[in-house]
Amino acid sequence: MRNMPEYCVVRNPRVRALRLKLFPNGTLQVVAPKDIGPRAIERFVARNLDWVARKRGDLCEQPVIGLPGRVDLAAVGECWRLAWDSGALGVDATERLLRIPHARTTPAGQECLRQWLLARARARLTPWLRRVSDDTGLGFARMQVRTQKTRWGSCSSRGTISLNARMLLLPAHLVDYLLVHELCHTRHMHHGASFWVLVEAHCPGYRAAERELTVIGRQLPMWSYFYPLA
Ligand SMILES: [Zn+2]
Repeated sequence: MRNMPEYCVVRNPRVRALRLKLFPNGTLQVVAPKDIGPRAIERFVARNLDWVARKRGDLCEQPVIGLPGRVDLAAVGECWRLAWDSGALGVDATERLLRIPHARTTPAGQECLRQWLLARARARLTPWLRRVSDDTGLGFARMQVRTQKTRWGSCSSRGTISLNARMLLLPAHLVDYLLVHELCHTRHMHHGASFWVLVEAHCPGYRAAERELTVIGRQLPMWSYFYPLA
C-alpha cells in the first residue's frame, strides 16, 4: 500500500464526479459531489496516486522562487530582515535581523531559514497555545512545531498537538481559530458534528475563519513550503 497523501475535500453540489486539483502550494484538493462518502473519496485518491506523483514532479521542476529578503510574521506583528551570505549565523532580536551564512539559493540557506522559523514558532506559539488552552479549559499533553506542507496542525490520540510553523504568517485571529480547532481534537478525534459543536462554542466565527484560511492558505509565499531546492 502506497502512502496516501494528505488532501482536503471540498463539496460542490454542482459536480457529478470526483475531481482532483493540485495547487501550486502543494495542497491536494478533492472536489466531490454532495453524496459521496469519505471511503469512496479515499479510494478515488488511491486510484489516482500516479497522477498526483506526476503533477507533484511537474511542480518540483518549476523554477523555485528565491528565498525571501524579509519575512513578515503577521500573527505576532514581527517583520524580520534577512541578510544572506553573511559570514556567520546570527539572530539579532532587537534589530529583527537574521544573518544566514549561505547564499540565497542554496539548500543550506533554506534549512537555516526553516530552523529559524521553527524556533520562532516554538517561542511564540507555545505560550499562545497555553493561553487558549486555559481560556477554553481544553487541555493538551504536549506541543510540537513542524513545517508540514498541507496541514495547519494535528492532534494525536495521546494529546500531542503538532502545529505548523507557517501559522506565524497568518493573521492572528486565524491562529486563534486553528489553536481552538486542534484543542477541540483532544476531545473529539474526528470532524463529526460533535466536534464542530465544540469548536463553535469556543469560536463562533469558525466558518468564516475556515473560508479565510482556504483563500489565504493559497496566497502564502512559496518559500514557506520549503520544497527541496534543486
Ligand atoms: Zn481538524
